[in-house]
Amino acid sequence: MPAEKIDGKFISTDLRSKIKDEIATLKKTHPSFSPKIVIIQVGDRPDSSTYVRMKLKSCAEVGIDGELLKYPADISQTEMMQKLDALNKDVSVHGVLVQLPLPSHLDEEAVTNAVNVEKDVDGFSELNIAAVFKKNSKLKIVPCTPKGIMYMLDYEKIPLEGKNAVVCGRSDIVGGPMSKLLEKRGATVTTLHSKTTPEQFKFFLKNADIIVSAVGKVNFIHGEDVKPGCVIVDVGTNYVADETKKSGQRMVGDVDYESCAQVASKVTPVPGGVGPMTVVMVLDNLLQTAKEQSHL
Ligand code: NAP
Repeated sequence: MPAEKIDGKFISTDLRSKIKDEIATLKKTHPSFSPKIVIIQVGDRPDSSTYVRMKLKSCAEVGIDGELLKYPADISQTEMMQKLDALNKDVSVHGVLVQLPLPSHLDEEAVTNAVNVEKDVDGFSELNIAAVFKKNSKLKIVPCTPKGIMYMLDYEKIPLEGKNAVVCGRSDIVGGPMSKLLEKRGATVTTLHSKTTPEQFKFFLKNADIIVSAVGKVNFIHGEDVKPGCVIVDVGTNYVADETKKSGQRMVGDVDYESCAQVASKVTPVPGGVGPMTVVMVLDNLLQTAKEQSHL
């Protein structure tokens, strides 16, 4: 039987409407409650502009006030830090998101760390990432992609405790926290990366009940590599040539969907899987930070 598609678009729409309802209720009960996000875009990269537009539109749809601060590509590190400092101090702003990637002269690490942890709705600052790894951390902002995947797995009622999970990729913002979140929920997790041998890949993938692939390589996971009945989450965002598209390219994940769908029980598609969950988690994190800062 072919695998069931995990519909990230549907799950994210459902969560978005819950966020919208909660904001509407809070605005009624607490008239001064006015959640606000500021998005910083440096330069004019078309992909960044698209992501920023999508995020601002999503914010507006649920009742979050969104402001875009667009700076020239040659903004200095000092100026960036000053802008962030001002936003960190502005009590009307509950969330600050710096659209990545930044031009190469800027220190991305320093910039993401300069966002106040309590306003860091992406969850990319060192402290928020470290908090994922701590057992009882008071900091609660989880990076959006792993948070969205956990929400999706729970929505689909996929058991985690006692299961073998494999996460391909160990980046600070996706693979690393993903492995830890699965482990915190009782899965036994193996993290695979570029130094993993082909033999290890073969062994661990074949024994995994849950696979999350966050590598960024087309056709990275095939049906023949995975265990019958497993659940596959495809985080990868890759582009391949496609003459039928106006842009001349098409977005694909890491997973060969057709072959994996013959073996797995559930698979997330690309597009329409993890992507929409990542966007809705920005809203979820913003609602959380706005409530905390408004003492609600
Ligand atoms: P990243 O920082 O480049 O990390 C990629 C990870 O994959 C690294 O840990 C790397 O291992 C590992 N890797 C690379 N080549 C490999 C190989 N041949 N075999 C095994 N492991 C390999 O990327 P990221 O930010 O984590 O993102 C991963 C992918 O997810 C990208 O395609 C990105 O565009 C996508 N993404 C999608 C969303 C979404 O919302 N859908 C959100 C975020 C990211 P080493 O650590 O050993 O180098």
